[in-house]
Amino acid sequence: MKRRTIDVQNLLRENIRTITPYSSARNEFSGQAQVFLDANENFRDFFSGTGRNRYPDPLQRELKQKAAELLEVPTSQLFLGNGSDEAIDLLFRAFAIPGVDRALIQPPTYGVYSVFAHLNDVGLSVCPLDDEFQMDMGAIERMCTDDPETLKLLFICSPNNPTGNDINVDDIRHALDIFPGIVVVDEAYQDFSDAPSTVSLLDDYENLVVLRTFSKAWGLANIRIGMACADERIIEVFNNIKYPYNISGIAQETALEALNHQRQVEKNIELIKTERERVVQKLNTFECVVRVYDSSANFLLVKTTDAKRIYTGLKDRGIIIRDRSNQHGCEQSVRITIGSPDENERMLEALEQMEAGA
Ligand SMILES: *Cc1c(COP(=O)(O)O)cnc(C)c1O
Repeated sequence: MKRRTIDVQNLLRENIRTITPYSSARNEFSGQAQVFLDANENFRDFFSGTGRNRYPDPLQRELKQKAAELLEVPTSQLFLGNGSDEAIDLLFRAFAIPGVDRALIQPPTYGVYSVFAHLNDVGLSVCPLDDEFQMDMGAIERMCTDDPETLKLLFICSPNNPTGNDINVDDIRHALDIFPGIVVVDEAYQDFSDAPSTVSLLDDYENLVVLRTFSKAWGLANIRIGMACADERIIEVFNNIKYPYNISGIAQETALEALNHQRQVEKNIELIKTERERVVQKLNTFECVVRVYDSSANFLLVKTTDAKRIYTGLKDRGIIIRDRSNQHGCEQSVRITIGSPDENERMLEALEQMEAGA
């Protein structure tokens, strides 16, 4: 197979291409010493006893090493961000000229892509997923040839939020072959899927950026760490334009600790998948349920007879789900996260009550 190469320098915005990155004290000296008087830190660690008075490693070397082993990529191809949201924002800032360039999004999908597009004054080309929530390749081909000069980012979410399905990998490959800019595959829910990760495509496509996160399967949404895997020239740009200390020491240490408990995480993924199956079966017995979509994630998209009524009914019983009815192709649909067996049972019992008119 022929490798898709790209001219990263040429794709970058002019101001990014020529930027002189901020060089922090911790960047310039990261070795061992007895006295650190280089970063204007306080000598006193008032409360923690764990060195919270010191700035954290700006490049998160120790954590990055372990995370790279997990994802089976070299550390030079891995960026760690303040949530995957940071990587999404950096993609806009690095590649899309405000007021000129565009990003291609495929609703129904994760709302952050369009929010950051607006924030960065980048236009959107909208190419909805088809009836089966797969990519409309004919429309994407047309958009790629219509105005290739300004089309800089394509967002593919797989498994997709809020629909839960994997995107066909052949379509992803085809998009990688024809898209004029950077193709972003957001794999926030990959750990719950049986489909292979597109991280393995990095060797074939220099225009690919794969996003992963500690927020879902790793149970660490609170510490805000996301990952981006890409060609090392792209990762270098991210490192040059991120906030200097984008991930706190507390977060880095917590993630490192989590990586020592991989087996526990894997077992939990299996539990969530088992629960997912059980909840699907049960939901399908309800009259208010029109369709439960196949899910490769830790949530279910459920088409109902009346999404608002179900959302409100559950809310009145202390159970919060997400009404996704306003999303393209998601009429009368709600998104339900798979919780603990007990939480799922309570949700199902509440639905039962509502169906019984109680
Ligand atoms: C939850 C989620 C993320 C995770 O974002 P973080 O900033 O890493 O917490 C990314 N993409 C999608 C589609 C998500 O649903």
